[in-house]
Amino acid sequence: MAVQHFDFLVLGLGGVGSATLYHLASRGYQVAGIDRFPIAHDRGSSHGHTRLIRQSYFEHPAYVPLVQRAFELWEQLGIEHGRDVYYETGIIECGPKDGELVSGVLASAAQHNLDVEHLSVSQARDRWPQFGFSEHDSIVYEQRAGFLLVEQCVSAHVELAQWAGAETFCDQTILEVKSESNVVRVKTNKAEFTADKVVLGVGAWARDLIPELADLITVLRKPLHWFQADDALYSRKSGCPSFLFETEAGHYYGFPSSDCRGLKVARHSGGEVVSDPLQVDRTLDETEREDVRKFLSVHLPGVSNQPTDHTVCMYSMTPDSHFVIDRSQADGRIVYAAGLSGHGFKFTAALGEVLADMASEESPAFDLSLFQRCRFD
Ligand SMILES: Cc1cc2nc3c(=O)[nH]c(=O)nc-3n(C[C@H](O)[C@H](O)[C@H](O)COP(=O)(O)OP(=O)(O)OC[C@H]3O[C@@H](n4cnc5c(N)ncnc54)[C@H](O)[C@@H]3O)c2cc1C
Repeated sequence: MAVQHFDFLVLGLGGVGSATLYHLASRGYQVAGIDRFPIAHDRGSSHGHTRLIRQSYFEHPAYVPLVQRAFELWEQLGIEHGRDVYYETGIIECGPKDGELVSGVLASAAQHNLDVEHLSVSQARDRWPQFGFSEHDSIVYEQRAGFLLVEQCVSAHVELAQWAGAETFCDQTILEVKSESNVVRVKTNKAEFTADKVVLGVGAWARDLIPELADLITVLRKPLHWFQADDALYSRKSGCPSFLFETEAGHYYGFPSSDCRGLKVARHSGGEVVSDPLQVDRTLDETEREDVRKFLSVHLPGVSNQPTDHTVCMYSMTPDSHFVIDRSQADGRIVYAAGLSGHGFKFTAALGEVLADMASEESPAFDLSLFQRCRFD
């Protein structure tokens, strides 16, 4: 069997890998991407129609420059590919005054001079009568926020990369990534490749393919639910924003209805631990659906009880819920982004650029110190 050689191999073609493939191919490198599944599949962490993108990042202000670059790149992707992947809806973020959500949004906004409105409960009720707010809530609204069409983002990145000369090998399982003196060798169940440099974006499978992350990442099962909703109140076209609530039962988020499936809602907190991502239970759990119904009945009381769909996806959590973006300790020719902890998709356009920089020995334009693997040593 002939071994094919490339300047770069990108392992995994989901959110991270598709964007990296695009950036490397656009720079004129000989690059190939490998994935176990077809492009934009529903077996990993990048499916389910939509992903939130927001700028005043409550999780940490260090993410803001990265998400600002991602906004630019998503817009550029839409123009280059000829179809929009980002829809601006604005986002309501609501929680207790002493909680982490609203205080975190305001801290990021202050540090980066971002435009965020802080509303009283009565102002919020007047403006969005279709939402339920309690007297104790603190509410902020950010206009520069909305959703990305997740599968279309992945396929647009891959298609543009292919048009720029990238090769893709799908339906092949990567079995081994082996460092040799002159090359990095990658074995799959069907073929063997070598490359000068390798980038990994293998999502929920990082524990298998990145040995230094084996004990750090916990994979969680995360269901998404859709419900019928009155378009006059809850559709994107009627001006309904996206939303994120911090409640006593955890964080919940969702999207205005934008297709025939209705309004999508999910619980960000919690989730069952998954030992083997290939065997994750994709069946509907009525208790989980009841939980999001309960959230809707308080905070979006006009949404119907009538479910229209559900799907199951996976979060790859690090102990502090921040990403790991680094070079392999064992071989500096191997770089990766992993442990995106359930909030990484919005960044993937920018992460692809960062990983392409790291792999090609250019300096990324961002301070990545928050994301180093050595913080866990
Ligand atoms: C329900 C849910 C809701 C979310 N909501 C948001 C949100 O609103 N906003 C946001 O920013 N983020 C959100 N996220 C997080 C975000 O979607 C993920 O962080 C991101 O999609 C992860 O991308 P990835 O490239 O790391 O993983 P993936 O997209 O899963 O890609 C990994 C790829 O590697 C391939 N692979 C792995 N191992 C092998 C192997 N051995 N051989 C061959 N191929 C392999 C897989 O097949 C897969 O295609 C959400 C995630 C979930 C699950």
